[in-house]
Amino acid sequence: MDTILVVNAGSSSVKFQVFSVEGEGTLRRQIKGQMDGIGSRPRLRASGAGGDSLADRAYPIEAVPDVPAAMRVAGDWLRDELRIQPIAVGHRVVHGGPDYARPVLIDHGVVARLERFVSLAPLHQPHNLAPIRSILANFPALPQVACFDTAFHRTHSAVADHYAIPHHLHAEGVRRYGFHGLSYEYIAKTLLQIAPEIAKRRVIVAHLGSGASMCALRDGQSIESTMGFTALDGLPMGTRPGQLDPGVVLYLISEKGMSASNVQNFLYRDCGLRGLSGVSNDMRELEASQESKAKLAIDYFVYRIGLSSGMLAAALQGLDAFVFTAGIGENSANIRARVAEQLGWLGVAVDAAENARHSRLISRLNSTIPVYVVPTDEELMIAQHTLSLLMNSQSPNPRHERVS
Ligand code: AMP
Repeated sequence: MDTILVVNAGSSSVKFQVFSVEGEGTLRRQIKGQMDGIGSRPRLRASGAGGDSLADRAYPIEAVPDVPAAMRVAGDWLRDELRIQPIAVGHRVVHGGPDYARPVLIDHGVVARLERFVSLAPLHQPHNLAPIRSILANFPALPQVACFDTAFHRTHSAVADHYAIPHHLHAEGVRRYGFHGLSYEYIAKTLLQIAPEIAKRRVIVAHLGSGASMCALRDGQSIESTMGFTALDGLPMGTRPGQLDPGVVLYLISEKGMSASNVQNFLYRDCGLRGLSGVSNDMRELEASQESKAKLAIDYFVYRIGLSSGMLAAALQGLDAFVFTAGIGENSANIRARVAEQLGWLGVAVDAAENARHSRLISRLNSTIPVYVVPTDEELMIAQHTLSLLMNSQSPNPRHERVS
């Protein structure tokens, strides 16, 4: 059985999925797994297509001190115990910088170019690159593909791509990139199947998970995003504040004596729903809480989604559909109903019963704008890109792309 391995490596965990390649390039998910607690309490967990547990085992710290070791242990487990030897590996890489507008087949030159973007995403890019380097060293013949969170947004116009700062900073990479691109690309493709007429028009997609952003799609292409230079901007998230006056950062430095790394930790870990509520970063806990600050955090989340919708509708010069996706967007009927209320001025009206059922189409017949719930699947997107680049590279005219 031919398989594709998809890898999503973070600082303390490596998530992986295995897809089998079926007839005519169809992909079927076979295994979902992750190595958590890297360098602290390593644990490998994996389940099969039906949710059946395939592994749940702890390792000593010395066995899994870092991401490459985690990749090695998970790879050995797949190979030795499940007899899985993938024909290619697809990686989620957060930053493709200004260069990459689509996934790319990896070689040493690509790795060197992606290393240049470490300074643009210091918390993610090094961890994304670690398993790539280790597979390149240990299995040099195994094709690897990098799929970027930024690539889908490279269709933005120059005005959407700039900040009002001196041009030399833009030239060195200080731009409004946008993230969650693999999720938006999957939604754009899926809309084309479930509502082809809508997919060609003006659509706002709200990716509401522990990271949250929104994207304006026109004819299936991204024209604007709430995220910018980093994944800190835009909507409030589990632990990140979203849009913030840069003066707040200056205040933290000058009045609170915080260093750059203190500010970084603060902005990535202590803000957002967690910081505002003082209760939790998890929407389920906030919805269950009686604390007034938990209510304020939810109110703020919904309010900012409403504000950002206005901004994106202005970028699109109108709106033809709204889509919810990711953990909160797919599962919280309450948040969807409240966001829809915020969009009432646009003529949005949600059907309470369809919304409670998490139906695909949750708007009422008389809603001027249809509202959809579409579960995202970034890993399938990565597997599809990996397979198609693999097939392309084996054709007589390989398209080995780098777009400037
Ligand atoms: P994601 O990052 O897309 O996996 O989304 C994770 C977030 O989705 C969690 O932090 C929860 O806050 C949220 N979530 C998942 N299930 C539900 C639910 N049933 N109701 C509300 N929020 C949920």
